[in-house]
Amino acid sequence: MALTRQKSLHVTGILLLGLALGSGVGFLGGLYAAQQAAQFVLRDFATHLVHQADDADSQFMTVVHTFDHIGPDFCSDAELTAMRTLMYRSSAVKDIGRILDGKLACSAVGGRQKDLPAMKPPAMVSTLGTSVYTPIHLLIAPGETGTIVGMRSVDIVLSPTLFEGLRREGMDFMVLMVNTRTRQMVRIAGDNIPVQPEWVFGQQHLRTGNALLFVRCSVRNSVCIVTRESDSLIREHSQALVTSLTLLGALLGSGVALAVIFAVTLRRSLPQQLRRAIRKGQLTLVYQPIVDLATSRCVGFETLVRWRDRDGLPVAPTIFVAIAEERGFIHELTHWVIRQAFSEMGAILRQRSELEISINVSPSDLTGSVLLERLDMCAVLEEVRPEQIALEITERSTADLASASRAIHELHARGYRVHIDDFGTGFSSLSYLHELTVDAIKIDRSFTRTAGTDSITATILPQILFIANSLNLQVIVEGVETEAQVEFLRARGHAMRVQGWRLGRPLPAHLAIRYLDQQDEEFFGAPRPRLVQ
Ligand code: C2E
Ligand code: MG
Ligand code: MG
Repeated sequence: MALTRQKSLHVTGILLLGLALGSGVGFLGGLYAAQQAAQFVLRDFATHLVHQADDADSQFMTVVHTFDHIGPDFCSDAELTAMRTLMYRSSAVKDIGRILDGKLACSAVGGRQKDLPAMKPPAMVSTLGTSVYTPIHLLIAPGETGTIVGMRSVDIVLSPTLFEGLRREGMDFMVLMVNTRTRQMVRIAGDNIPVQPEWVFGQQHLRTGNALLFVRCSVRNSVCIVTRESDSLIREHSQALVTSLTLLGALLGSGVALAVIFAVTLRRSLPQQLRRAIRKGQLTLVYQPIVDLATSRCVGFETLVRWRDRDGLPVAPTIFVAIAEERGFIHELTHWVIRQAFSEMGAILRQRSELEISINVSPSDLTGSVLLERLDMCAVLEEVRPEQIALEITERSTADLASASRAIHELHARGYRVHIDDFGTGFSSLSYLHELTVDAIKIDRSFTRTAGTDSITATILPQILFIANSLNLQVIVEGVETEAQVEFLRARGHAMRVQGWRLGRPLPAHLAIRYLDQQDEEFFGAPRPRLVQ
């Protein structure tokens, strides 16, 4: 009771942690994404404004190139008309003026002027030599102030609405004329945004107070643009994004937590389930035919264990055998397999004295004498000759050569046969097969798969076959799946046994026995008569 409560507390804890971590990461991710989006929007806004400034600059330069010469038609009616025509065509220009001796002599809108005072010095001269006068009380619109930019004998009044058409809701901007050499800057349009020269000349994203700024300068003229969006607005714009990413994070976090809980529970419970299943005999055995290649007759079966977990899902033997090995109860599993195999196949083994059954054993089964005792007990009870039983030991079992040879020696002494399983994948080498005195090697299916292909390992199978033959070792080739593989092996010309889907899938005991009968019918025209048991 207390344990269940503790367990559910753990589960709730992991879930809450996943939820909190997930939403935290989602929230931070949302903030980051919102920041990136705001930076993108500010940069895009500034880029549009820079294009507009470049366009205005080229209109200004057209005016300069057209009128910047002092000749006989200076401020003549013809020149004033030409100035008005050009002004009419330029969206950035509200008036064009002609300057002589530092005084305005005439302008497109105001006509010829007399006795005007000299113009004040410009607020600054840009890197490219443009003089900027701002703010200036305009002659053409008394009471209004504006910006005048000029070069030598020409100046223009900039349209105050030049950049206004590009304004974006909730964002400020400022257009600056700059001199990169003197590091001066003067606002010529837009809002008054307080900036430091190093920000402007550094051209970057920056955060000031509670707003985000972006600065971009034109590469064609001496104009820099500053755009700004306040944090509160960024938050407002990005609220939906942050909320959805937080929710997504929470969802993913709890998903991961659930997966962790599931995996942990499964890992914790599988060994317990397996142990219980072994004790209650809830596993099953299947038998895969082993066939003599020359005669195509079934000469034996490999015993393979099967288990379904409590949800009825099959668990791969590689997984649950490893669990039993890790948790130290493999001997219980092996014992169950031996008893079950003898009990299911005892009769057929008695009836067919040439038939062999292979049983897989794990490295730790080979230590001590328990395995031998259990085998002997079953063999005696079922009256089966030990020569009909082969123990498949993996190459891992032979890592400790001395104890492997001792175990093999004892098994041989009682008459059991020993096969090395999955040969070629582990530690053993052909040279010390001599010392181990095993009866057969089972060549791993990874080599069979490459037989007859141009893979590098394809050459290994014929070599193993050749050496095994010269050592007088029986060979069983595993994983034979296709007729082409059968043909390839036949072409080697060695005696060998084969096992694999092409020859027969693993079958429950009664079907394995029927398989033998069917073979008898094929070969002799009738099943072998059953002995009375
Ligand atoms: P193994 O001893 O090498 O058994 C052969 C495996 O190859 C079996 O997989 C079998 O179903 C599979 N097989 C047979 N023919 C073909 C084929 O043509 N193509 C392919 N791709 N596979 C084929 P299974 O039954 O999943 O067993 C996997 C491993 O689990 C076995 O490999 C063995 O190491 C272990 N195992 C199975 N039963 C027992 C057992 O009772 N005790 C112990 N200790 N280990 C067992
Ligand atoms: Mg095996
Ligand atoms: Mg094998």
